[in-house]
Amino acid sequence: MTGLDHVLLTRFNLPTGGVEGLVRAREGWLRERIDLFERYCAPSVAAQQGAKVTWIVYLDPASPAWLLERMAPYAASGLLHPVLREHVGVPELREDIAAAVPEPGEALLTTNLDNDDGIAVDFCARLQAAASATTHTRAALYVTRGLVLSDDGLFQLDDRHNAFCSVREGWDEPVTSWSEYHNELPRVMPTIELDGSPSWLQVVHGGNVSNRVRGRLVAPSAHRSRFAVPLEVREPSARELLVDRAVTSPLRRVRDGSRATARRAGLRVLGKDGYADAKATLRTIRSGGPDGSSLLNLCFHGIGEPARELEPGEESYWIDAATFAEILDVVKGRPEVRLSFDDANASDAEIALPELRARGLTASFFVVAGRLDQPGSLTTAQVRELHASGMTIGNHGMTHCPWRGLDRRDQDVEYVAAREQIASVIGAPVLDAALPLGRYDRRVIDRLQGLDYRSVHTSDRRWAREGSWMQPRYSLHRGDTAAWVEQELLRPPSPAAQAKGALVGAAKRWR
Ligand SMILES: [Zn+2]
Repeated sequence: MTGLDHVLLTRFNLPTGGVEGLVRAREGWLRERIDLFERYCAPSVAAQQGAKVTWIVYLDPASPAWLLERMAPYAASGLLHPVLREHVGVPELREDIAAAVPEPGEALLTTNLDNDDGIAVDFCARLQAAASATTHTRAALYVTRGLVLSDDGLFQLDDRHNAFCSVREGWDEPVTSWSEYHNELPRVMPTIELDGSPSWLQVVHGGNVSNRVRGRLVAPSAHRSRFAVPLEVREPSARELLVDRAVTSPLRRVRDGSRATARRAGLRVLGKDGYADAKATLRTIRSGGPDGSSLLNLCFHGIGEPARELEPGEESYWIDAATFAEILDVVKGRPEVRLSFDDANASDAEIALPELRARGLTASFFVVAGRLDQPGSLTTAQVRELHASGMTIGNHGMTHCPWRGLDRRDQDVEYVAAREQIASVIGAPVLDAALPLGRYDRRVIDRLQGLDYRSVHTSDRRWAREGSWMQPRYSLHRGDTAAWVEQELLRPPSPAAQAKGALVGAAKRWR
């Protein structure tokens, strides 16, 4: 494999016009993207085994300071080369690759990696082996099998000419994997397809509706060892796997064509009820993003002026009462919006409850059991009043410590004792939980599932599906306005489409 230089190319964000409104819109998009990048993309590149790789990440020079600060540690560790560019054409790309690989070998392999995707630990090694073995002077390479992660589970997908595309070529005037839109490379050069184990990961999230779930349901436990990123979905039961294999997966495959074959197959295996179940599942799966059957969960923390000492950084989650009321006016009459309140602040009862009642709205209140009756927090009487007013009361822990990394005894305190304490206050079972600081990992999920929570609410900033056990939410921050909620969250621009459009545009400009 000597003499092959492998460069991953990632566009983090694209320059846009300087219009004030767009800057704000971009901020929300960036927040979601950096979370996904840190959760899936960066750790999976860092975990590559048996392969040396250089990673160039393009950023808009007008990026906010906080974004560049969050990128800085990755650059300092040598994981990636951040490059600030307003425009990336062939000359810039060649210049940046040459700068990142100061002593080029005989051949260059470039691979596109989207900022919200992940790769298996052997992804680069497999590509490099194939690129070194080929006799073509220039060839496109694809690993055809990957995984799709969504709130509904983990799916295995065969996609021959996917976005994880590579080009192997000489160092003399390289065109790179960005020279054509990803599925068009086979049109212009010989193409090598690698099958075998799934080696890439797409994450279905709110801003990414074009990546709706495809493929067949698989058990995450079978894939965790090859992916150094959290595959935080519950393990499907044997029956769910059977239903998926027999009905839902064939239905997904043919959903744009005839469904008769799948229907026959489904009826044969499951009978009418099973088939109806599977169809219902499929309806949920098909409804990614802001259409009628998806949910937008909004999460509030404090409203007005805090009356207790806040944790570091917490004040940025407090919004003023007027903005709160305006946001309620925007979401009133929108059944796809669900509201929740974390942290058990006194403002839940003093400000939120009357405003909700005035509009006939309900919400979930995730309370911190250890804070009840403390100054600035809800009293037990107020929690009872919320419950009696038709609000759902959930568990947000005993002490508000993050739930990740807890030992069994601390888990018992946060997940079990806090829940029991809250249940005794309201005189009813507590079925739902919200994760303090939004942090979780597989151990958190496994334990909460074992404790039969009905739903677990995260802070993952994407749309949710009705009935999903995990409910991602958008937390409101100070400075967010009702107009922003309406434009950015209720009518999300499609960043996938935006990025795709820009990539196609760039590819065309280079010709
Ligand atoms: Zn909290």
